[in-house]
Amino acid sequence: MINADNTRSFPTPYSSLRRLQALLSENNWDALLLTSPAGRRYATGFTSSAGMVLVTRDAGFLYTDSRYIEAARARAAGFTVELIEREQKYQEQVGARLSAYGVRTLGFEQGVMTVSQFRTLGKAWPDAAFCPAQSALNALRMVKTDEEIARMRAAQHVAETAYNALLPMIRTGLTEKQVRAELIYQMYLAGADGLSFDPIVVSGPNTALPHGEATGRVLQPGDFLLMDFGVIFQGYCSDTTRTAALGHVTEEMRRVYDVVLCAQLAGIAAARAGVMGAGIHKAAADVIADAGYGAYFGHGFGHGIGLEVHESGGAAPSAAKTPLPAGTVLSAEPGIYLPGRFGVRIEDVIVLRENGCENLTGLSKELLVL
Ligand code: ZN
Ligand code: ZN
Repeated sequence: MINADNTRSFPTPYSSLRRLQALLSENNWDALLLTSPAGRRYATGFTSSAGMVLVTRDAGFLYTDSRYIEAARARAAGFTVELIEREQKYQEQVGARLSAYGVRTLGFEQGVMTVSQFRTLGKAWPDAAFCPAQSALNALRMVKTDEEIARMRAAQHVAETAYNALLPMIRTGLTEKQVRAELIYQMYLAGADGLSFDPIVVSGPNTALPHGEATGRVLQPGDFLLMDFGVIFQGYCSDTTRTAALGHVTEEMRRVYDVVLCAQLAGIAAARAGVMGAGIHKAAADVIADAGYGAYFGHGFGHGIGLEVHESGGAAPSAAKTPLPAGTVLSAEPGIYLPGRFGVRIEDVIVLRENGCENLTGLSKELLVL
């Protein structure tokens, strides 16, 4: 059963606050400022369209405006919630706090803060020493706790419930956009809080575009239908791709499907804590290359996923410097795309463990002919 009431089951975020405070000591920062929605959510369990989170060695502050103040007070356990008045600027209030606390070094998300926020904060806090914190934060968020993994498993399950409800409705004569509309509806019906991205629903020759967009194309017998979709549930993203056939398949379509599936299984078999992402990618890419389709698999095997659909910790040829730690969650999504003809991708979400990996996706991967 899916508990779709995300307010009731919201966790206490004390553990995230503690982990962020540990990051402060490790890096010799006096405080950390989080301005991205995912960063704020990671810290507090709460997110809104506007807000800032300040973590000091012994406290946590969540700044938000009157639209969110009540919800923030109810949910951001462990944080002091501060109201930003209409005429005030976040940076001025945060800057005043930094000065009052005698903060000298501040970790911040350098890829997120705007130039104007940076300047205003610098004015309000003249002793400013800004320290880029993004890679340390990414590394922290890459290792998921059991609680986070449980939510990601639940998010996958919501998406699967939607997909299973969608399958009997798929028939030739519908357009890609109509199938996408039904898929989106079913995801919300199954309990999604939001969508991790606009689902990709492509058919026939359009399946050869790895990130194609749904069009008005009418589904035909003999088509592949590729659906890549994900929900946000309790803050966490799911991501799944399945490629089904309509009516009948050619031998070549079946062969390509089997190669992609074997490649995915080879990547999954190679996935465990302590390996490089590049090694996982290679295990899958070798299967595709050996089958003669090496030129038609152009993207990475997988990407990190969590509060955001694309996070650190991927499995691509470039991921050859740092071994992936236990608790890394990543997608497993090889594909073969034959230009102008058809494409196949199969995507699950896996968690790296010491001796292998756990697949959070429960959907069958047998070729489905609808
Ligand atoms: Zn996907
Ligand atoms: Zn993906």
